[in-house]
This record gives sequence, structure tokens and C-alpha cells, in this order.
Amino acid sequence: MMSSMSHNRSASTPHLADRSGGSAPRLDMAIQYLRGVGPKRAAAFAELGVRTVGDLLEYLPFRYEDDAGDCPVQDLRPGMFATVRGQITRFGGQYPHATATLHDETGAVTLRWFNRSPRGAGVYRDGYVSATGKVQEFNGGLEIIQPRVRQFANEKALFAERFEGRRVGVYRATAELKAPVIRATIESVLSHADLAIDDPLPPAIRKELDLPPRATALREAHQPSDQARLEHARRRLAFDEFFLLELGMALKRRSIRGEPRGQALKVTGAIDERIRARLPFRLTPSQDKVIAEITSDLEQAYPMTRLLQGDVGSGKTVVAVYAALVAIANKRQAAIMAPTEILAAQHFANIERYLADSRVNYRLLRGGMSKRDRAELLGAIESGEIDLVVGTQALIQKDVGFRDLALVVVDEQHKFGVLQRHTFRTKAARTPHYLVMTATPIPRTLAMTVFGDLDVSTIRQSPPGRGVTTTRVLPSVALERTLLDLRPRLEAGEQAYFVCPVIGESEEETAKAAPAPRRTKTPPPLAPKLRSAIDEFERLRKGPWRDLPLGLLHGGMSQEDKDATLARFARGEIRGLISTTVVEVGVDVPNATIMVVQHAERFGLSQLHQLRGRVGRGGSDGLCLLVRHARGAKAKERLQVMCETTDGFRIAERDLAFRGPGELLGTRQHGLPEFRVADLMTDFELLELARDAAFALVQRDPKLTAPEHRPLRAALRARLGRGASLMDTA
Ligand code: ADP
Ligand code: MG
Repeated sequence: MMSSMSHNRSASTPHLADRSGGSAPRLDMAIQYLRGVGPKRAAAFAELGVRTVGDLLEYLPFRYEDDAGDCPVQDLRPGMFATVRGQITRFGGQYPHATATLHDETGAVTLRWFNRSPRGAGVYRDGYVSATGKVQEFNGGLEIIQPRVRQFANEKALFAERFEGRRVGVYRATAELKAPVIRATIESVLSHADLAIDDPLPPAIRKELDLPPRATALREAHQPSDQARLEHARRRLAFDEFFLLELGMALKRRSIRGEPRGQALKVTGAIDERIRARLPFRLTPSQDKVIAEITSDLEQAYPMTRLLQGDVGSGKTVVAVYAALVAIANKRQAAIMAPTEILAAQHFANIERYLADSRVNYRLLRGGMSKRDRAELLGAIESGEIDLVVGTQALIQKDVGFRDLALVVVDEQHKFGVLQRHTFRTKAARTPHYLVMTATPIPRTLAMTVFGDLDVSTIRQSPPGRGVTTTRVLPSVALERTLLDLRPRLEAGEQAYFVCPVIGESEEETAKAAPAPRRTKTPPPLAPKLRSAIDEFERLRKGPWRDLPLGLLHGGMSQEDKDATLARFARGEIRGLISTTVVEVGVDVPNATIMVVQHAERFGLSQLHQLRGRVGRGGSDGLCLLVRHARGAKAKERLQVMCETTDGFRIAERDLAFRGPGELLGTRQHGLPEFRVADLMTDFELLELARDAAFALVQRDPKLTAPEHRPLRAALRARLGRGASLMDTA
């Protein structure tokens, strides 16, 4: 009987070993060949990603229950997980709600099953059984819900073995594969004391960080002996996840450093002076610091791979321009890429401000260029006549060849294109230096996991002379009134954004436009209908903002229409722009002072921060109204963060805590690794330890060729599986 196995504390309980028989299975054995697992169960296991015995051991409980162990019926309390021993006296209820009553000398308790007959659970009248499960209160009495039951031949056998309680793992199960089967299968494997579980971690690291051997950690994670050891085990397993990840990062970075094709640029005092003389303002100390970091990279013979992060308006563009001018001063070319045509044009306009009367030959590669103009421009890029090109992803298309590209700047705004740099790198004859800019402050933990192969520079403080943006959370009922109050400001020439979570009717769009907070994945059935951009445009036009010049902007429009509308807004011809989050990405209209966000509770904090950054750019104060439709305390608490701080890093950290890393970064394709055990929010120190250890190891053994590192190399290869690109570069 499967359920009996959960009562065995020790991994080597004799009757289990007998049952599985023979020697321990190898970890690479398909689980189909385990006793009790046929092809059918193996297929069900495969659904969970478990194919081999090794996979099975890594299929860890997602939580634990305290099993109080043997407990007299009179001592049972609701909420506890316990085992009672006694005799079945009575049956009650009816399938699928059948019950049985168990008596011991202290009292009686009801055992309750759903969709299972007591007989099916192994319970017969007058039979001696132990029943293990969760205790609940029901109709004034106590019940054990869905108990695991063991039968005994007589009273003597029933009390022959005592069970003093422990923590039990709870496994994620499926319809085909019930949790007790998973548990029993794992326990049968662990019952082999001679099970060979390799430890890829070099012993020195293990000792230094006081981590248990992997075998101990896995056993403990499945069958914890006490809380302290379980925690120790969890630490080891979380460390492994971080360590392999960071090892991959370290190898990748090492391979970039080892690339012979880099190009050292000179940054002399004269060059620095000449560049600064071009700028219409003094750089802030923050900008100076990151420029120093960047120039010291540019002077190296291996290519720079650096992430530049800084809040919206913190002055990243000018830093990028500085770096580009260094390349150009060295008689090389530079390219700046933006995620959209609008942003590329915006960058270009900025660059024009700095370089208008210089000898630098800079051009914008637009999407809508005529064939002839494009061909001509490409020719000039290829001949090296052009020093600096600005454009979109079009710049990495096959037909764009550079003569001597020394620097690539990618402005990702909030869209992280981890993959793009590889495309670029292989393109140039020599590997260009690479700088990614992002306006989404990324908490350090995330930066280390997603961009762990990049160096990170951060602009912490914004240039002086900015307006102050006030943020208010507005209950939806107060919106109408507020919009009327805002009228005079718009009539006087101020401009407003009005952002909605969806374009039109489609609910589909919702998910894409604004990922719901992690813990409220399914909206309540009576959730208010989402206000869409199209509807709100109509409503405002006929209602509170009647007779004001309004515009509508959303992702469903053609690029031309979008550009035209934005241009009209930028010229002030449109006062109120009703849109979806398309405006989130770096649109720069200095005259805009008001930002209204409908259904603010649907947006991530970092996203709201981006939206808020659209106003108060021109030096005048901004107003940001977050309209809240959800009533929950959680939504309120989250939005309150926006009123309390404008520090993008603090907001990002809170966002990470509220929503988790997946939502924060947007999508999976950004290469966010999935952790089974580790938690980016709480295991930060462990991540740093893992990173230090991994980088130090690669420093000593850059290709992991030392014999003692061979298991590590294999583990890394196994972990990376299909996406083994990290190893390819190693
Ligand atoms: P980001 O790209 O980080 O959003 P920008 O580089 O576009 O920020 O800078 C925002 C605005 O601040 C621009 O108008 C820019 O000219 C101005 N700016 C940048 N650095 C400084 C500085 N050190 N002093 C004054 N103004 C600055
Ligand atoms: Mg910018």
C-alpha cells in the first residue's frame, strides 16, 4: 500500500528497500523502469518534466505540512496535520461525500473523502487503521479530510509502531498523477541508502559556505528531519540554482573578454575636453561617474558590454552621445538604436542639438525612406563616410554594413533585448563595444540574473531644474469631477495624457496591455468592465472635455497615423491624448503636465513610473492621477507607493516584491531564469555569494577543464539543455 510509505522517517526503512528490491537506480535511468511506474505513469510524470530518476529527485515539494504524528482523538485541533489510530465503527454519507468514523479510547473522529469510497481508501467496518491528514472543524465536530489510511491486522499491530511526527512535503500533482503516488515514488527511490547522488559543487566552495552535500540536501528537502536542516537544505539547493546560472554568466563574460577582436579606443584629456565643450550644460556627478566607467571600458582591448540604467530624464542620452563621440574621435563609427521610429527620431533630434555645428557626420536611418535614399545612406555607412547612425532595429538588418563600427548603443527603454547584441556582434569585422540603456531601474538581484554577463552603470540623480510631479490616487467615482476641474488648465494650453489599459472591447488585449498583479491572476467574476481608449475618447469628447482638441492613439493604428497623432500632440495641436500604454515608451513632450491613468491598479508600479515620467519634463510641475477601480486593500497599498516616492529604484524593488520578477520584466523571453527553490526577493545574499563564487572559479579555470570541475561542466550542460548557447561561447 502506497500510503504506508509516508510513515517512514528514515530513508533506509527495511520493508521499503525490500519492496523496491535490488540495488539503487541510477539517476539517469528513465523512471518508467522504477517498480510501480509503468509507461502510463511515466507519461504522466513527463508532463511534470520528470523523465529520469534524477529529475524525480529534483521534483521538490512546493510546501510542507506539519505532521503532528500520533495523536489521541481528544487532542486533535482544527488546522493540524496528524495521525490517529483506532477502529472503524461506522460509515456515513454517500459517495461522493462518504465518511467513516474512527474511535480510539479517547473519542471519535470523522474521516471524510471526496469522490472516493471508504472501501476504496482501504477502510472496512471494525478494521484497525491509522489515518493521516488535515483536521478540520465541521458542524461542531472534527473531521480528517482525505486521510491517508493504513490497515493493520489487529490492535497489537496497530500500536506496534509509533510515529512521532515530522514535516511532510506537499507535491504539486496533476489529475493523472496524484500527490501520494508522487510522494511514494520519491520515497521508494530515497529508500536506497546507496543511491548515488553526485555533487558537482567543488568541496572547497561547499565547505567555505557551509552548505550540505547535495545528496543530503535533496533527501532533507523531500523528507525533512527538522526545520533547521530543512532550511539548510533549501539554502544549498537555492545556491545551486544561482551558482549554475552565474557560472554560465561568468563563462560568457570570460569568453567576451577573451575575444581578440575588441578594439581599444583612446580617451585623452583633449578628447574629453572637446566633447564636454559641445554640451550645453555641465554633466552631473552621476553622469561623470558612469562616463568614467564607460571610458575605462572603451580603453580596453576587449569589447565593453555594459548596461546603463537611469530613470527617465536622468540624462542617459547625453552619456551615449559622449561615448559615440569617443568612437568618432578615434576615427571609428558609432550606431544608436531605439525601439521605435518615434524614439529614433527623438534621439536624432537630441543629437542634432549637441552636434549641429560640429564636423561629425550623423544621419537617421528611417523606416520610410525611399529605396534610393536608403541605398545611398547604406553606401555612405559602408564607406565610412558616416560617423554616427541613429535608427531602429533596422540597423541590424543584413544589408547594413559598417566600415569600422566601434560602438553600438541600444536604447531599450523598458524593453530588454538580451538577444540582439549577438546579432550585432557577429556583423562587424571587429567586435564593437556595446552599451544598453534602460529607463526601467532594475533591482540589483534582477540585473544580476538577467544581465549578469553585463557590467552595470547607474545614474542615480537627475539633472537639476526639473519640475515636481504630484501623484494622487483617485477613486473612480471622483474622476468625472476631477476631469472638469482640469478643463481650465487644458484651455490655458497645458496638455494631458489619458492612458487606458485596453484599446477597445477585446478582453484579450487586457492581458497584454497590463499584466494583472501576480496574486490576482483571475479577475473576480463581477470585475468592472475595463475602460478602453476608444470608449473613453468618445466619452471625454462628448462629456467633460467637450470642445477641447483631443486625439486618440493606440497600438492598433497604422504607424503613419500614430506618428501623425503624436506629432500633432508634440506641436500642441492636441491638448488631451487618449491612448493605451504606447505612450509609455519614451515619448517626449515637454509641455505635457497632466497624466491620468485609468485602472491604475492594472499596471505594474514600474510601468506607472514610466508613464508618470512623461509629464513634468519641461521644468513645470506635473500632476499624475492614478484612477483606481479595484477596492482591495492590496491595490490601494501598491498605488500608495507611487505617492510616496519618485525614486525609480525603490519603486522597482517594491514592484518586484508585489508582482515577482516575471511580471516586472514583462515577458519570459527576456531570458529570466526560472527558479524552483531560490527566491530572488529573499535570497539576495545567497545570489551574491553564488555570483562571487562562480566568477572566482571561472577566473581560476576559465573553461572548466580541470578534472575536479568536470561534474560542474556536465551539470551546467544539463541545466542549459537545449539553450546551451552559453557553453558554445565557453
Ligand atoms: P534620459 O535619456 O535618461 O531619459 P535625457 O538624456 O533625454 O534623459 O535627458 C533629459 C533632459 O535633461 C534632456 O533635455 C537633456 O538635455 C537634459 N540634461 C541631460 N543632462 C543634463 C545636465 N547634466 N544638466 C542639465 N540638463 C541635462
Ligand atoms: Mg531618453
